[in-house]
Amino acid sequence: MGRTVRRDEIAGNLTAVRARIDAACAAAGRDGAGVTLIAVTKTYPASDVDHLAALGVTDMGENRDQEAAPKAAAVTAPVRWHYIGQLQRNKARSVVGYADVVHSVDSLRLAEALGTAVSKLRDRPLEVLMQISIDGDPHRGGVPADGVAALADSIAALPGLVLRGVMAVAPQDLAPEDAFARLAGVAARLRAEHPGADLISAGMSGDLEAAIAHGATHVRVGGALLGMRAPLR
Ligand SMILES: *Cc1c(COP(=O)(O)O)cnc(C)c1O
Repeated sequence: MGRTVRRDEIAGNLTAVRARIDAACAAAGRDGAGVTLIAVTKTYPASDVDHLAALGVTDMGENRDQEAAPKAAAVTAPVRWHYIGQLQRNKARSVVGYADVVHSVDSLRLAEALGTAVSKLRDRPLEVLMQISIDGDPHRGGVPADGVAALADSIAALPGLVLRGVMAVAPQDLAPEDAFARLAGVAARLRAEHPGADLISAGMSGDLEAAIAHGATHVRVGGALLGMRAPLR
């Protein structure tokens, strides 16, 4: 597909997604400036990141280090990279090389690995969100609600990391409204102890309205912007 055709396609999708975000903010009585759109560019090439950046999108999300590291290196536009996928500790050094925010911290061991990598490899701290398991199912990653307070205290004490809030993916078997309402409760309890941890990363192409209704500050949208995911060429 030609570059102009692709950019027009992404521009049209972006207009539609921004309209959905604006409508959801209006319905919730929220200021649209309080919701940041993260374009999830996984499986799509660096050229799509360039299109998004040219169209005014400043925040990009990736979920695999093997794909994200070379893509981030190939992109020259000044975008912010959000690492949103499950992360193994042996990838911490690579991820801190390009990520501005890691959304998927769900254990102290991972947080420590990131903190150590930051202190060795960069001179600015790494912003982190704790990934919350809404239904307590350990398989998909995420810390269960009853483990959040202790993990938050530990992360806040680590040099190199700044605890910024929570992230979640709505479980398949739960209505997004219910899932994001629970996440909002977790987020409120966290904020009471850590006032700077005020970000809520929630909502994807299919459920961003429900997330915004329940206070999401960051929505992570892939398919609705870039189309059905195909293998990276
Ligand atoms: C892929 C992905 C998204 C984007 O999902 P879409 O349905 O394509 O909008 C959001 N969050 C995470 C953690 C993802 O892995």
